Amino acid sequence: MAARGQSFNGMRGVATVPSYVVMQPTTLCNLDCAYCYLPLRAADRRMPVPVAEAVAASANVWAAAGRFSVVWHGGEPLAAGRDHLAALLAPFGPEVEHHVQTNATLIDDAWCDFFAEHRMRVSVSVDGPRERNGDRVTRGGRPAYDRIVRGVAALRRRGLPFSALAVVSRPAPGLATELYDYFLDLGCDVLGVNIEETEGVNTRDNAHPPADVTAFWAELVAAWRRDPRIHLREVEWSLRYAAAVLDGVADDVLPRQLDPIPTIGHDGSVTVLSPELAGFTDPRYGDFSSGNVLESPLAEILAGAAGTPWVGEYLDGVEACRSRCPYFGFCGGGHAANRYFELGRFDGTETEHCRNSKIRLLEGVLEHARDHQSPAA
Ligand code: SF4
Repeated sequence: MAARGQSFNGMRGVATVPSYVVMQPTTLCNLDCAYCYLPLRAADRRMPVPVAEAVAASANVWAAAGRFSVVWHGGEPLAAGRDHLAALLAPFGPEVEHHVQTNATLIDDAWCDFFAEHRMRVSVSVDGPRERNGDRVTRGGRPAYDRIVRGVAALRRRGLPFSALAVVSRPAPGLATELYDYFLDLGCDVLGVNIEETEGVNTRDNAHPPADVTAFWAELVAAWRRDPRIHLREVEWSLRYAAAVLDGVADDVLPRQLDPIPTIGHDGSVTVLSPELAGFTDPRYGDFSSGNVLESPLAEILAGAAGTPWVGEYLDGVEACRSRCPYFGFCGGGHAANRYFELGRFDGTETEHCRNSKIRLLEGVLEHARDHQSPAA
């Protein structure tokens, strides 16, 4: 299924026009989750409005030419407050779609009005039932679960559709069905499942027994197929790839170029490809940024981003993946931040992250297919 022997042309170089930008309205988060990668989450460094104006100058042009989104990410973006977030949203034209990734603990009726008024799509971070949220705690170390579900209840009461993002710290047989059933009850219409990653200030080990991870994904596919009411991001992507392999068009699945996914830090700095690198510095790579929107237009920064030294090294790593890894057509070479935080550089290939979230995901889909083959097949 990994289309051995096929050559893949997708994902060569970095596109100069993104499909979305990630914006950090504040570094502050009101929670202190054990697996969080953000170094400045206790500090309230807010994005000044001129940063949003500078990003909007490029984003409005891109949105006029095609679909374009801004993802408000943090810290906890709602911790910036409604007035400040409204001021940051104001420079963006009506064609720009807005999304917010939130821990949901601050959502109330006033925030629901805000989301509706700004046509902002909400994604909440919740890891499943109460007992699966032990890592999600307040600054005082108290469980955040009740506050999370209160925020979700406000969204439901107001009829606002929402996505959910779950972090799974220990994938194992038996867990996936419980999780999927929970999210069916929660009422989200899209679900992303992330196996916990070792990155940023989170140094917890993310190596797991391979059979457990594969079984987790296989079980998730089975749970989804029984009741596919939720768009299940990872599983639908895998099935799309599997269908393309069977149709002999696996090379058409990946985009031709990497989406630069610029992350705009609170201070206007631009970090491409991996939001998780924003805010870090390294003696060898500096602060990872490719420029600052207060000094140069975002479009200009992205046009030159491939020249950022670490990006060049990462592109070498992508080529190494292309030539060595049978999963490349599905994966496209993995995320820059996972290579850096696991391997200490960007031109390596396999990481625990790609084993957990790419290789074993695809193997899990195959395991499910094998277990459910009709006898006549
Ligand atoms: S990141 Fe991992 S799964 Fe993806 S192409 Fe590279 S080695 Fe393969």
